[in-house]
Amino acid sequence: MQRLSAAGVGDLLAGDLRAFGGPSTVEPLAGRIRAEQISIVLRNTPLVMVANILNAAIFVMALWGSPEQTKAMLWASGIIAAAAVVGLRARSSFQSVKPRSVSRRTTQNLVRNAFLFGTWWGALPVLFFSGATSAVQVVITCLSAGMIAGGAASFSTIPIAAVAYTLPIFIGSAVAIAWVEDAVNLPVAILIITYATTLLRAVLAHGFEFTQRLISQAESERAIRRDVLTRLPNRFSFNERLENAIVNATQFDQKLALLLFNLDNFKNLNDRFGRAMADALLVEAAARLRKSTRESDSIARLEGAEFAIIAPGDCRPDRIRSLAKQITDAMRAPFLIEGRELYCKVSIGVAFVPSDGSDANQLLRCVDTALHRATTLGAGPIQFFSASDDEAAARRHALERDLASALANDQLSLAFQPFLDLGSDRIRGFEALLRWHHPTLGAIPPSEFIPIAEETGLIHDIGQWAVRTACLAAAQWPCDLRVAVNLSVVQLKNKALLDGIRTTLSEAGLEPRRLEVEITESVLIANFEDAIALLESLSFLSVTVALDDFGTGYSSLTYLRKLPLSRLKIDRSFVQDMLTDADCAAIVRSLIDLAHELRIDVTAEGVETPEQLDYLRRVRCDEAQGYLIGKPVPVDEIPALLRGRSVRSEARE
Ligand code: C2E
Ligand code: CA
Ligand code: CA
Repeated sequence: MQRLSAAGVGDLLAGDLRAFGGPSTVEPLAGRIRAEQISIVLRNTPLVMVANILNAAIFVMALWGSPEQTKAMLWASGIIAAAAVVGLRARSSFQSVKPRSVSRRTTQNLVRNAFLFGTWWGALPVLFFSGATSAVQVVITCLSAGMIAGGAASFSTIPIAAVAYTLPIFIGSAVAIAWVEDAVNLPVAILIITYATTLLRAVLAHGFEFTQRLISQAESERAIRRDVLTRLPNRFSFNERLENAIVNATQFDQKLALLLFNLDNFKNLNDRFGRAMADALLVEAAARLRKSTRESDSIARLEGAEFAIIAPGDCRPDRIRSLAKQITDAMRAPFLIEGRELYCKVSIGVAFVPSDGSDANQLLRCVDTALHRATTLGAGPIQFFSASDDEAAARRHALERDLASALANDQLSLAFQPFLDLGSDRIRGFEALLRWHHPTLGAIPPSEFIPIAEETGLIHDIGQWAVRTACLAAAQWPCDLRVAVNLSVVQLKNKALLDGIRTTLSEAGLEPRRLEVEITESVLIANFEDAIALLESLSFLSVTVALDDFGTGYSSLTYLRKLPLSRLKIDRSFVQDMLTDADCAAIVRSLIDLAHELRIDVTAEGVETPEQLDYLRRVRCDEAQGYLIGKPVPVDEIPALLRGRSVRSEARE
């Protein structure tokens, strides 16, 4: 109890308004409030001290030549000396940078100084009033009233300092008046008490309002910096923290690690299970992230499912790797949300100050590149930035820049790869595959430039061009041959796609049934509703739809039942392994049976050996595609290829 009240007095003297029933707040904010309060007091201090010196001088002049002159000079020299010191100090500290936070002790010192000044002025009426002439009494009364009013005004942001300053002057004045043997004492005492109360109330009201304003200012500043969903710092706050952390690390010659962390399959989860569940998952992920990091690590949510961690201090690669591992482990456990178990796939990129960069932008670029490697290149979920990444990033930037003009500069072309019908041993059509011949870098594989086209949105134009070029080519072929074109996820979101295909078909004069679009499962997972609508419209036009790379993604057999599919393309990886791996062979066989029951044709991709082709024939696969049948060729090689339509398979027999 005793300690509590001691703490209460401490709070009081530190300018905390809780003592008066004012707004209360947490200590870091209280430190900021003190800084604001003191800075205003300091701004006024030099002027107030000048007033002290002038008033003291006026008083000495009033008593000049009287017997009290020496006493008055002694009293005044005390005030003048103290005022000069305090005034000069206040001036120099006001000119230096305003601190963001001020300790309790600083405010307590200020309150003590206010009290000492007040006491000195309070002594004035006690020492001089009773023996003075009435003219001097008027001077003393004016000076006391002036000091009370001026002091209360200049300390109004720290009410306790105003009290510490004015109270001794009130008391001194009251004592002096009580000594005067006069009947007016009582009304004067009542007046003084009334003035004092009014003044105190005004000062407190101002102090409350001032503090309240600072608190709400701080709260709105905090809101700007906080992510509403996870209550973690947001990108805005992260940028500030990163800048500060880099400055600190550089100044003290220390290392700093930046980790960028992403829930890779978040978008899919969001699309499949809806926003509410995805949000709940992010909140849980943020909680796990808090648990698996140290107090000193600073976490932020940047956007979507991307989080960043600034790790200062011990940044040995081993420790950072174990921190990253702790995070991936924490995220690996299933998320139980609304009775469902959701699983997250996470990737983490890491970069260091100073080895990878010493400015925020550069560091972010590095960590982004490392994360990109972790996410897309299958190199493992935790990746540290390395200089070779930099080259990869530079190449990517160059490709990004050049792809924009590739179409206009005629650098894109289509290669056509044949499908072989296993029943008739005849070529049934070709798949159109994009090729980019870069003027300086040579042939760029589609696996490299198509993701760039998707990210930049260039895929819409390029995809449209591919459909058009493929249809124009196919229109020149015998009419039992089809052309297959690949569509990417991004294209399905484009409402203009369907119209584009319709117009292209009529302009090229190609029967719609001769066009096939190939989509991958990832397309379906990411945009099931969009995909269904689009596929149905395409079927309505008689354009056929093939499901590409079957078996590599989530491989849900429900797609086969729910979608208007004409064809299933078994991924190359199954074909490669089916002769050596019994499980693989069983999968291939049962997939073919299931597809046939659903009246869906099956094409096996990536057939490279006669043995594979033999096996596929035995299990009644409909078509084969692969280097054995034919590599992708330029359009002008197709007539020659068609002239020997089944040459390869005949040669084999
Ligand atoms: P995909 O649709 O699965 O295309 C088949 C890929 O396998 C082609 O690679 C082809 O050259 C290759 N391939 C064919 N037979 C064999 C074989 O026997 N052995 C091996 N090892 N590989 C074989 P490519 O041309 O590099 O295309 C890669 C991917 O790029 C394609 O995979 C497709 O997803 C995408 N792509 C290509 N053209 C386009 C396009 O016009 N639009 C879109 N959105 N994506 C395209
Ligand atoms: Ca394909
Ligand atoms: Ca494929």
